[in-house]
Amino acid sequence: MERPQEFSPSTMTALIVGGGIGGLATALAFQRHGIKTLVFERTQQFREVGSGLILAGNAVNALHKIGLADVLHAIAAPLRSSHLRSWRGNVLVDLPMQETMQRFGTSMVAVHRAELQAALVQALGKGSLRTNMQGIGFEQDEQGVRVRFASGEEVQGDLLIGADGLHSVIRSQLVGYASPRYAGYTAWRGVTGFPLDQREAQTTFETWGAGKRFGLIPLSQGRVCWFAVANVPEGEREEETMEKQRVLHLVSSCHEPAWAVVEATDASAILRTDIYDRPPLSSWSQGRVTLVGDAAHPMTPNLGQGACQAIEDAFLLAESLKSSSSIVPALQCYEARRITRANAMVQRSWQQGRIAQWKHPWGVRVRNTVLRKTPSRFFVKQLKWILDNQIG
Ligand SMILES: Cc1cc2nc3c(=O)[nH]c(=O)nc-3n(C[C@H](O)[C@H](O)[C@H](O)COP(=O)(O)OP(=O)(O)OC[C@H]3O[C@@H](n4cnc5c(N)ncnc54)[C@H](O)[C@@H]3O)c2cc1C
Repeated sequence: MERPQEFSPSTMTALIVGGGIGGLATALAFQRHGIKTLVFERTQQFREVGSGLILAGNAVNALHKIGLADVLHAIAAPLRSSHLRSWRGNVLVDLPMQETMQRFGTSMVAVHRAELQAALVQALGKGSLRTNMQGIGFEQDEQGVRVRFASGEEVQGDLLIGADGLHSVIRSQLVGYASPRYAGYTAWRGVTGFPLDQREAQTTFETWGAGKRFGLIPLSQGRVCWFAVANVPEGEREEETMEKQRVLHLVSSCHEPAWAVVEATDASAILRTDIYDRPPLSSWSQGRVTLVGDAAHPMTPNLGQGACQAIEDAFLLAESLKSSSSIVPALQCYEARRITRANAMVQRSWQQGRIAQWKHPWGVRVRNTVLRKTPSRFFVKQLKWILDNQIG
């Protein structure tokens, strides 16, 4: 067993494997409580590529409480409404987002992922971050935890956070290796400068077709991020130069400005990602080791909650450490506070993706009619559930 008398945030060293949004947000939340933290990222440099992310009010609140309100304000574009549309452009659902957000005292914003990551790195300070450090495993005992890296180096600390994403090696060692679950669809994403009027610049929309989707997220500085989704076999790829043509073909019958936005995008900046999740775990902590973000609960992006949930993890893990008298119960407390909600997000996101990707024309017609006739309070209820975390 660990030795409780040694526990104090100021004498602890936390090791975080993975420097994505989850790992960096966790490090910043720890720093706020005086916990010495080292983040190990396998890549040599943080890549400038990336796409847009929507951060719903649950994540915005958590980032504010971690002390990152100014960081967020500098890079975020506010979103005031959200539409779900048919392939022809008819509005199926007009979500009264602003009123709901205001009731929770928060807002919804869009950020460029690379800019959020860069801002988090800057807030953390270079001394806490080591790149080119690929974690390959760990050992733990009553005294602490030791992480092994591909370089042969080993680092000792008091607790370990696996923040190493969908293919987490820390998770594999905790619960055993399993392949992720392919959702049956792939997503293309791009960012480009594109003129929008003032109202459009604060409205995000997602358009559902038959086995295909398109969405637009306005970003700061006159840019937009778009995504297109199609049902395809796992691992299918075009030649790189052909991906843009493929998307243009996919959205050729979609309402404007889908085609024009894709056409305006530099072909080399279009990302393609097959979509995966993992069935929920019943536990993701063991002793002095726990997981955050996609390492703990990877989810399909249909609710736009993967990064938001990672940020919730970061905040509540730091709070649990601050308010507990020793590490192991603190990690158990964090897991107990997070696991039900995060797992429910995984499930709901998966179900929403299945309906969104329906292909049969009759199914699509029925789906769209039901969506159009569903009272908006149903969608508000879902939004409230997303916003209603324990962060306040
Ligand atoms: C198409 C798409 C759209 C999305 N849109 C949204 C959205 O609008 N809103 C939202 O909230 N979420 C969204 N998400 C989900 C979101 O991107 C992820 O949930 C989020 O990035 C998870 O963050 P993470 O830090 O847990 O993992 P990651 O972002 O995967 O970061 C893991 C980090 O760990 C590093 N790493 C991996 N293995 C090792 C190792 N062995 N040693 C050291 N380092 C390692 C990686 O290099 C990486 O930097 C979307 C996802 C997709 C695919």
